[in-house]
Amino acid sequence: MRASILTIGDELLIGQVIDTNSAWLADSLSELGFEVTKILSISDSSQAIAEAVKELMGQSDLVISTGGLGPTSDDRTKPTLCELFGGQLMLHAPSLSLIEQIFHKRGLPLTETNKNQALIPSSCTPILNYHGTAPGMIFRKGNCFLISLPGVPFEMKNMFTEGVRPFIEQNFTLPAIVRLNVNTFGIPESFLSDKLKDFEKFLADRSIALAYLPSPSGIRLRLTATGDNKGRLSNLLDMAVNELKGLVGENIFGFNDETLPSVVSKKLRGKNETLAVAESCTGGYISHLITQLPGSSDIYKGGIVAYSNEIKQNVLGVSHDLLISHGAVSQPVVEAMLDGTLRVFQSDYAIAVSGIAGPTGATAGKPVGTTWIGVASRETRRVELYAFGNLREVNIQRAAYTALYQLLK
Ligand code: ATP
Ligand code: MG
Repeated sequence: MRASILTIGDELLIGQVIDTNSAWLADSLSELGFEVTKILSISDSSQAIAEAVKELMGQSDLVISTGGLGPTSDDRTKPTLCELFGGQLMLHAPSLSLIEQIFHKRGLPLTETNKNQALIPSSCTPILNYHGTAPGMIFRKGNCFLISLPGVPFEMKNMFTEGVRPFIEQNFTLPAIVRLNVNTFGIPESFLSDKLKDFEKFLADRSIALAYLPSPSGIRLRLTATGDNKGRLSNLLDMAVNELKGLVGENIFGFNDETLPSVVSKKLRGKNETLAVAESCTGGYISHLITQLPGSSDIYKGGIVAYSNEIKQNVLGVSHDLLISHGAVSQPVVEAMLDGTLRVFQSDYAIAVSGIAGPTGATAGKPVGTTWIGVASRETRRVELYAFGNLREVNIQRAAYTALYQLLK
């Protein structure tokens, strides 16, 4: 079954609002078993809406549109769909009563404009909106359904769950789909794909799709199995994961929504251990990644952004001689930063990073991207040199995630 997504709104086309609705809908529809074949964003113009609806309905079994249902004159979706599918705007009493409740609760008077939100084309089946004023609408032409939802993300998501999903489950026969993410780090995409050549054949023989999704936080391998029995598909994916572990097991750090910070936190929490961080070039980014997680105070003692030599010396106790003889971006300095961090914070583990994020700061023999990353416990200490790229933002991210990965090793 093929589905398309249509997002409507001038604000999307000038880059003022990022089209998150499409991503969310694409994820939800593929999870339900649809093949999402097109995503289109268009302006709030009647002509554009009519053309896009005709085009997408000619190519899909289901079209979901968002946006343009507001009460103001720039929202053109409802009148355009009414014209396209026929019938006339009629009052939908249950929607009016929900709108009245919303205004009553807010202590606001109900104006004619607000009441008009409850007018819907007689050619559609309405979907109640418990979270805003614009009802959703289901139209049918031949074998294709068009479902129009408001643009406001939380209204759209709730209406999808409450109204659209049950409608889809009643009206479509969809294949079972099971998806699994295997999250890797520390191996470039081309090396990974070389290692997985035979594995890709193994997957193809079992109709499992594989996608590589690279980012500075690692490469996510997304496995998707499609068939008619969820249990059988889950077993197939378990087999695939076992194969993968045999091939690149040391680079796999987690599954599905697990991230390097979440896995590091889980590991430390499990052992009742703590972490402290000394950051130069990452400027606090490692601490930010850890403290974004709820409950991080269990495992995170604190961090020092030791950006200047002065702070490396005065707070972490790195010696002046080391800084002069080796430079701040060097193995001995990062070793000394680790020692200082363990001493200052009395933590079980320390992470220290010093590097040249760029674009300035390169010196002879130390190009932009040169980064020393160290991890230490009371007994062990490992410091490694990395040559990242030229982009400051990416270097900071890669250094932070590499440090967390190093802690897991
Ligand atoms: P309402 O009845 O609440 O006015 P609406 O259907 O008219 O709903 P829009 O006016 O098109 O919705 O959009 C309302 C707001 O929702 C926009 O200002 C924008 O912030 C957000 N929005 C709209 N479309 C999208 C989208 N595709 N992705 C993310 N946010 C969106
Ligand atoms: Mg709009």
